Amino acid sequence: MEEKKPLEVLYHSTRGMGEPVKASQAILKGLAEDGGLFVPDHVPALDRSLGELAEMDYGQTAYEVMKLFLTDFTREELEDCIGKAYDAKFDTKELTPLVEAGGVWYLELFHGPTIAFKDMALSILPHLMLTAARKNQSQEEIVILTATSGDTGKAALAGFAGVEGTKIIVFYPKSGVSPIQERQMVTQKGENTLVVGIHGNFDDAQTGVKKIFSDRKLGGEMEAAGLRFSSANSINIGRLVPQIVYYVHAYGKLLRKGRITEGEPINVVVPTGNFGNILAAYYAKKMGLPIGKLICASNENRVLYDFLRTGTYDRRREFVLTSSPSMDILVSSNLERLVYHIGGEDGPGTRALMEALSGRGCYDITEGMRAELSDFYGGYASQEETAAEIDRLYREWGYVVDTHTAVASAVYRKYLQDTGDRGAAVVASTASPFKFTRSVMGALSEKAAGTGESSDCERDFALADELSRLSGVKVPQAVEEIRTAPVVHCRECDVAQMEKVVREFLGI
Ligand SMILES: *Cc1c(COP(=O)(O)O)cnc(C)c1O
Repeated sequence: MEEKKPLEVLYHSTRGMGEPVKASQAILKGLAEDGGLFVPDHVPALDRSLGELAEMDYGQTAYEVMKLFLTDFTREELEDCIGKAYDAKFDTKELTPLVEAGGVWYLELFHGPTIAFKDMALSILPHLMLTAARKNQSQEEIVILTATSGDTGKAALAGFAGVEGTKIIVFYPKSGVSPIQERQMVTQKGENTLVVGIHGNFDDAQTGVKKIFSDRKLGGEMEAAGLRFSSANSINIGRLVPQIVYYVHAYGKLLRKGRITEGEPINVVVPTGNFGNILAAYYAKKMGLPIGKLICASNENRVLYDFLRTGTYDRRREFVLTSSPSMDILVSSNLERLVYHIGGEDGPGTRALMEALSGRGCYDITEGMRAELSDFYGGYASQEETAAEIDRLYREWGYVVDTHTAVASAVYRKYLQDTGDRGAAVVASTASPFKFTRSVMGALSEKAAGTGESSDCERDFALADELSRLSGVKVPQAVEEIRTAPVVHCRECDVAQMEKVVREFLGI
């Protein structure tokens, strides 16, 4: 049977400048030249029935979703990338198990090599990028430049380390990640890798990286040296598109299990930081997947909660370091894409709002745009509520979740109270509890909690063993392998020195 060729999807900037580009070019560039983010010119509809999708495994679902967005990739190319990404690097054949606890479905997205959901996209991004480079006859070496709140960094390092034709530089907030997260990054092997702790928070790192990206002078020197920057952050559509897959796959699984009927809407709850994961769910809904509410869960950095409630985005507030560090973010990059879509795809309008954000530190959306946000529900959970939720899930259901997942789970309980909406719900479970053992164990038992601010990882490893005994879950390989691994990166710098550090590493 011949496959119908889907309508080509082109990508253009949220800020309205420049020519539209093909998917492979958008993946190579990462960020548009005017500083905007690439968005698809239309969101393609799923062309398989929900019943058909229910019969597919993860790889097949990935193909069905990705072929619709990455229209200039051939079937062979996509299948090759999918095959290389979703293999024995994952510790379960299922890839993304759905676990029920207390009538809620936890979609475990942390079974990849670095035990956070970022692996779902970052294990395929290097393959998409190399394929994209080949397709565009690009001879330049790809330099991945990434800011991380903890999980992207390691997942990107794991994906790109040792990959020929690439280099990767990761900036993380020196005092803003968990001990295990830091150890994972600074033990990363590979000649082509550089890991640097900055004296600042994630937003500083992200702003610094964006600045380096849009520095024309540096760009020119890079070109002359045969180098080209790209991004592994969720601003890259090569990361966003693979994230749509697990929502589609989860729906199919619930259908196959007979837990929902075909077409029945499900609510999706996402612990949110940079707005990438929940934006993927939004695109899944736009593709026709029956999703009811998109429940956006924040921690005490509740800038998105306030935005959804008031229509004002205001980053001028205190930055709180919480027990869910991967969500400690005040400038959620991917929100720019949503703002663009709800504002009638108005490039100059989006540009004005984003300029207000970087200038004044805030912007307001119109009433019309607010009306377009009715698919979303915003909530937040304090650190106390988060800890209580970890404890409750363990006591009542014997199920241990990490702090980020617990934020989402706590917000979902508020949603239930608020709305009484008892529809099936899927909570995106974004990290293994073993990645945040100190906070998780602290939530579970008084005894294990807080013995100061020791940056020493040993305590976390001992806690991991204890967590394993309590939960009956084996300590993941990702934690085992860093117990004894030597530290190979110890570079630190101020935000103002980021460009200098990049230049040194690249020799330009
Ligand atoms: C990155 C991350 C998040 C936030 O995801 P976004 O796509 O940035 O909103 C939540 N939880 C964990 C564990 C993460 O690593």
